Amino acid sequence: MNRLIVASNNVKKIKEIKAILAKYPIDVLSLKEAGIDIDVEEDGNTFIENSYKKASEIYKIVNKSMVLADDSGLMVDCLDGAPGVYSARFAGEHGNDKKNNEKLLKLLEGKKIEEREAKFVCAMVLIIDDSTVVKVQGEIKGRIIDEEKGENGFGYDPLFYVPEYDMTFAEMNSEIKNSISHRAKALKKLEGEINRLMREE
Ligand code: IMP
Repeated sequence: MNRLIVASNNVKKIKEIKAILAKYPIDVLSLKEAGIDIDVEEDGNTFIENSYKKASEIYKIVNKSMVLADDSGLMVDCLDGAPGVYSARFAGEHGNDKKNNEKLLKLLEGKKIEEREAKFVCAMVLIIDDSTVVKVQGEIKGRIIDEEKGENGFGYDPLFYVPEYDMTFAEMNSEIKNSISHRAKALKKLEGEINRLMREE
């Protein structure tokens, strides 16, 4: 079976990627499951730059496994695209979702709903072998509401409202989020490559 290592330590993100790729005969492993203990510094200016850096650093140390990296985040129009590549550490401490959400709400205080347009972006880099690197990006538009709603998901999900579903990401069950999210859209764009690999098996 094909082995795919996801270059991330974010448990919730990996869970979503595994769920979306479950229909393929691919053994999807987190860094931890692959026995890799490394944190790649995300110092790029774009999601794609960071994603490529994570994928290539991990690819250097794995033995003939494919590597997939996901660098993602939230971009709010009226904040000039912030938090952007700083999404995970918006309030200073890496991965503190509660503090990140509080900071975002504070910055948007007094803004009307129509001024709260935002999008989630997911940049994925798939390294298949030394000469095959695929880069894709998926996005979903929504709005940032003025209080947290819902218990599911992670990160900014309780604040990200999707008008077409009249729900925040955190109010959706995982099947719905995983069918419409920025991550799902990026993975959909990788499907051609994945299907090609399956045929070559
Ligand atoms: P990364 O690990 O550098 O890609 O950071 C991603 C950060 O962006 C996460 O810590 C979250 O704050 C945010 N983020 C990315 N994808 C999602 C999502 O699907 N829901 C909520 N927040 C997300």
